[in-house]
Amino acid sequence: MGFQDRKDFPGVPLKSSDLKEGKVLFEEWHPKAKYAWDTGVAIGKFLQGLKEGKLLGRKCRECGRVMIPPRMFCEWCFRETDEWVELQDTGRVNTFSISFVDRDVNRIEKPLVPAVIEIDGASPGMGILHLLGEVGETKEEILQKVHVGLRVQAVWKPAEEREGAITDILYFKPLEGKA
Ligand SMILES: [Zn+2]
Repeated sequence: MGFQDRKDFPGVPLKSSDLKEGKVLFEEWHPKAKYAWDTGVAIGKFLQGLKEGKLLGRKCRECGRVMIPPRMFCEWCFRETDEWVELQDTGRVNTFSISFVDRDVNRIEKPLVPAVIEIDGASPGMGILHLLGEVGETKEEILQKVHVGLRVQAVWKPAEEREGAITDILYFKPLEGKA
């Protein structure tokens, strides 16, 4: 039997739930390793800002750029960045996609709309990847509402539920009447 016969054995896609439910024969091994994950100064402060409902960027006085996500070093000027800048939680859609699979590559009925959002107050091209919300449930509805350049605003979790993670922002929603 040659490689060309593979169509007779189409195979079965494997989900991570299949592993959890023991549907797959495999050997489980738990190494006794411990990790301390350090986010670094810039992202650590950025995440703390999210917990407080703020988007923090970092400014380089040499080239004048304001960077988000923040970094402590300007790769243009080859020097350390200078100061923290609190940015607005509004911005514009730089690019977006309509996804009919979730993170586990399961098909989903209601699509997700991941987008890169250029944050107001940051330099052009600086932005964060997040999800858009309140933009419809079908591809047609989404394409009617969402376009490159769409003005959006962050929808935050309630303050007491925030934990210093990018998910402290639930999604970005269209800003009505501010095209
Ligand atoms: Zn610079």
